[in-house]
Amino acid sequence: MPAAPAPRRDATPSPGRRPSANPWRLDLRELGRRAGTMQEIDRTIPAPEAWKVELIGVPAGADVHLRLRLESVMEGVLVSGGIEALLVGSCARCLEPIEDTLTLDVQELYAYEGSTTEATSEEDEVRLVEGDFLDLEPMVRDTVVLSLPLSPVCDEDCSGLCVDCGQRIDDLPADHAHEITDPRWAGLAERFASSPGTPGDDTTKEN
Ligand SMILES: [Zn+2]
Ligand SMILES: [Zn+2]
Repeated sequence: MPAAPAPRRDATPSPGRRPSANPWRLDLRELGRRAGTMQEIDRTIPAPEAWKVELIGVPAGADVHLRLRLESVMEGVLVSGGIEALLVGSCARCLEPIEDTLTLDVQELYAYEGSTTEATSEEDEVRLVEGDFLDLEPMVRDTVVLSLPLSPVCDEDCSGLCVDCGQRIDDLPADHAHEITDPRWAGLAERFASSPGTPGDDTTKEN
């Protein structure tokens, strides 16, 4: 075999070489900076940490499926497509565990450093291309967290918990009820039942 020119170091991906490489960081060298070029991304990456609000979220390490299109535009890289992730939490009404799949659409411009978009935007309202890389993680995390419901429910019709015994109402028979057992209330209930409308015995006499 004739001697071939030394292959460019970045010509072939070597997944085994850098096991600690952050999979959320996309190498943009293949896409290039010529406006109009495109690249499809279809990959499943574990969530680096739990993305959650009080009752529900994507657990740390859960698979996040990204199906994205990178498009080179004048100002930077336009990222658009869909995210799919496992959602785990508990019902705000009855506390039953909830497991669901979250599907979201995203569209985000990552501006080049020094672009007009960067120059005319507040620092915290524009995402930037960092050299030859683009970090998807903060964008995906923000999109996921902002979409999470503050009061997730196991079912739209969930009736919650019985205030007297704490059991899940949807699991109880329809005629579920409680005897009034507190002696103070029992006495009161008895009095009202036996003498409806009569005034109480604490009426003070004039004199
Ligand atoms: Zn519920
Ligand atoms: Zn009950």
